[in-house]
Amino acid sequence: MISSLVFVALLAAGITGFTLQVRRLRRGLALARPAGRHDRQSERWSTMTRVALGQGKMGPRPLAAAMHLIVYVGFVLINIEVLEIILDGILGTHRLFRAPLGGLYDGLMNFFEVLGFLVIVACVVFLVRRLRLGPKRLNHPDLTGWPQKDAVNILVIEIVLMSALLLMNAAEYQQLATGSQLAPWLISGLMLPLFGGWSASALSAFATSMWWLHFVGILAFLNYLPRSKHFHIILAFPNVWYSKLTPRGQIPAMESVTTEIKSMLDPSFVPDPNAVPPARFGAKDVHDLHFANLLNAYSCTECGRCTSECPANQTGKKLSPRRIMMATRDRVEEVLTGGQGADTRSLLDDWISREELWACTTCNACVEACPLNIDPMDIILQMRQYLVMEESAAPSTVNVAMGNIENNAAPWAYPQADRGNWIQQ
Ligand code: SF4
Ligand code: SF4
Repeated sequence: MISSLVFVALLAAGITGFTLQVRRLRRGLALARPAGRHDRQSERWSTMTRVALGQGKMGPRPLAAAMHLIVYVGFVLINIEVLEIILDGILGTHRLFRAPLGGLYDGLMNFFEVLGFLVIVACVVFLVRRLRLGPKRLNHPDLTGWPQKDAVNILVIEIVLMSALLLMNAAEYQQLATGSQLAPWLISGLMLPLFGGWSASALSAFATSMWWLHFVGILAFLNYLPRSKHFHIILAFPNVWYSKLTPRGQIPAMESVTTEIKSMLDPSFVPDPNAVPPARFGAKDVHDLHFANLLNAYSCTECGRCTSECPANQTGKKLSPRRIMMATRDRVEEVLTGGQGADTRSLLDDWISREELWACTTCNACVEACPLNIDPMDIILQMRQYLVMEESAAPSTVNVAMGNIENNAAPWAYPQADRGNWIQQ
């Protein structure tokens, strides 16, 4: 009875904590203006199924893709077992589903154990890869400090959770089923020698402590997730749903500027009387970005595929598209916590420098490489629009090119009449 009460209290605290964290995340997303991406719904659902559920953009790195798939499937499927743990904890029963499911229960447990073992192997490989052998993108200055710790924390938590499950099964079998007709399950059966010579009470206490460790670990994990890049396990789905569906290279025209030009050039054009003039052109801070930009920032896995493909980064420029996403998310967090300077600072200059913004070649390689269709270039373009239209602060090279386009209808410093001169050379 007491253990059921403790269980219910912990479960309630865990769910309440998670709910509060999700509310906080929603407050962060609500800082943005609407994304206006509710069109082409069937295409959105199919993109989400292919890219988020089917991991359709993980293919170029097949080994990493396979291991990621194991961790992902393991996380989702093994949590089915949590349903039994919750019911056992509330009702004070033990392995509630075993009797009604019969042989199917053993089949499921064998499947979960193999999956759990593969998750442990994949997490150990990921840890070694990240800390010892890793590609440059995993040992990049972008990840100094908390991001690297976060990545390690989550892998260690997964290893602990899966190990607790396997050890619990092994100790329980050793205590209750040795000598019976029951066959041990596939992986925990291999661990039985660990418990040779243990007394029945020691085995029982160990199995019970592993059960509690697994349960409390799941609650801790649940509350850690929303503050971690690993929340992408949930956010990946809405994030991909809100993908930009127009052609990659198409840079959307600014509605207010289009209206202005049409008003000047087309006498028959009637502007929308309900249109609200923009507070500012482009984006200086997170409030100016749209919903999908902030959802992108919260969904970023910090994998660095974008940065490793970015030609600006490859040629030694300061720009890293991954850092653009991380800086955007950190700025939203700064606004939410209302810490010192939250009102006086902005995404531009305090989190993202002008040098980074103007280093972008608008090649879209980052968007192409991102397994979650995240679009760092969209944020960069909106911030550039702010610099040009609100501060007239384009670099001199851009100003010269724009002046030439205005005067010569070409970015070069030659009149149109001379464009064929090269033929005479
Ligand atoms: S669009 Fe910009 S940020 Fe993205 S890969 Fe190209 S240069 Fe890098
Ligand atoms: S933007 Fe995409 S590719 Fe870049 S770090 Fe984030 S998840 Fe990875």
